[in-house]
Amino acid sequence: MNETSNRVRVRFAPSPTGDLHVGGVRTALFTWIFARQHDGDFLLRIEDTDRRRFQETSIESITESLCWLGLDWDEGPDIGGPVGPYFQSERLDIYREHANWLLENGHAYECFCSSERLDAVRREQQANKQPPGYDRHCRNLTGEQRQEYRDQGVTPVVRLAVPLEGSTTVHDLLRGETVYENRTLEDAVLMKSDGFPTYHLAAMVDDFMMGITHVTRGPEWIPSFPLHVLIYQAFGWELPVFVHMPLILNPDGKGKLSKRQGAASTLMYKQDGYLPEAMVNYLALVGWAYDDREEFFSLSDLIEKFSIEKVSSSAARYNFDKLLWFNQHYINHTIELDDLTRRSLPWLQEAGLIGDAPEGSSEYALARDAIALIKDKMKVLKEAPELTSFFFGEPDSYESDLLIPKKTEAATVLTALDRVREIVAELGVEDEEALEGRLRTVADELGLKAGQMFMPIRVALTGRTVSPGLFETMKVVGKERSLERLDQAIKKLSQSALVETAD
Ligand code: GLU
Repeated sequence: MNETSNRVRVRFAPSPTGDLHVGGVRTALFTWIFARQHDGDFLLRIEDTDRRRFQETSIESITESLCWLGLDWDEGPDIGGPVGPYFQSERLDIYREHANWLLENGHAYECFCSSERLDAVRREQQANKQPPGYDRHCRNLTGEQRQEYRDQGVTPVVRLAVPLEGSTTVHDLLRGETVYENRTLEDAVLMKSDGFPTYHLAAMVDDFMMGITHVTRGPEWIPSFPLHVLIYQAFGWELPVFVHMPLILNPDGKGKLSKRQGAASTLMYKQDGYLPEAMVNYLALVGWAYDDREEFFSLSDLIEKFSIEKVSSSAARYNFDKLLWFNQHYINHTIELDDLTRRSLPWLQEAGLIGDAPEGSSEYALARDAIALIKDKMKVLKEAPELTSFFFGEPDSYESDLLIPKKTEAATVLTALDRVREIVAELGVEDEEALEGRLRTVADELGLKAGQMFMPIRVALTGRTVSPGLFETMKVVGKERSLERLDQAIKKLSQSALVETAD
């Protein structure tokens, strides 16, 4: 797989140390789009060599996040592929072999330093205001000295023997060339004493062996980029193209995006009722833009219009409000009503508002009608139960004084509600215009403004002073239930002290 071929092969290589966060998923998105644009292969590789930070549940969280956003992979731990295994923990022999090759060829050495010694070195460097780093204490140990450590039961780590002179030039697709003086680079650890490789060795070996042509990864790897180039050079391998994504900043522009300000797990957005379409659209614009006008992009638009060269190299601010704005836009303007209803059902079910509601059932039809009326108010699907609850069971419970608008008498409201009840009983709720016309006439007769007339009806129907259009709401609630709710309001009001006082 590592012989030269023109086929684009890219990978997303998360470490299963927790949930997949926004930065990681943005890298996955750009990488996936790039693969699809070039009819290339998108690999999923799980970098599980840090056993202290490993979390089993994280693997599922990663795959679920990618699936949710529609980012499918062509090779990966679950589906296999020609260059597997795709779990790094199952490739330990490969790393060991490569580390041995570096040792045998003078590009790496064994280091027996204890963590106490390394701490002491660090403290001394701090005290002397020297840059921190390994002091190369073990770089020139003799065979005998190494054997002595071994006899004492010390297991060594393997470190890269960075050339002591000269410089290393790295090339990033977005940032161009940077030259590093080798003397400023650290002899980084490649194999740990637990037998697991570090990222530096494992990722380079895998990227090469898996035939990766473009390494797309987070900006946190820029500082160790020269080490990675040195590792490739030590093996005599041709370098892939490297692309480091731009850093994502907090919305206030201060510092790297933190959990508190929005870096929460991708799945949390799913659980909060964000649509994958909105998430994809927003994330695509964190560090990339098509032009200064167009901002709506589906995955297939992105395959057509995205260009990795146009990804910005400078940090991009995360804008939570913009994401929410996109979500609202997709809910309100893009998603078909049936689709939106289907996606809202789990929330309505979870809130106990409806049962199975299979399509074609009256329960489903009610949910659909309700969603149609509130969708312009819904920013995230999670809000569906709160916005629609009164369509299903009962109106919200309310105090009788909510029925009485300002500057109206309780007795007048009672009379008005009696008349409304009669009219609804006679006319029904289907003909919104006719109903509205009749109620306006009654309002005139009673000396009420339209708002004063409609408010008590709204409260009777919903238990709220704010709701979707009154007549549309009545129509969805239906004649029978509207009458019941009006009856309840009339009863409530006539039993309350408010009317007695007014009498
Ligand atoms: N396992 C690394 C991480 O999760 C991935 C870096 C890479 O893509 O090379 O940060």
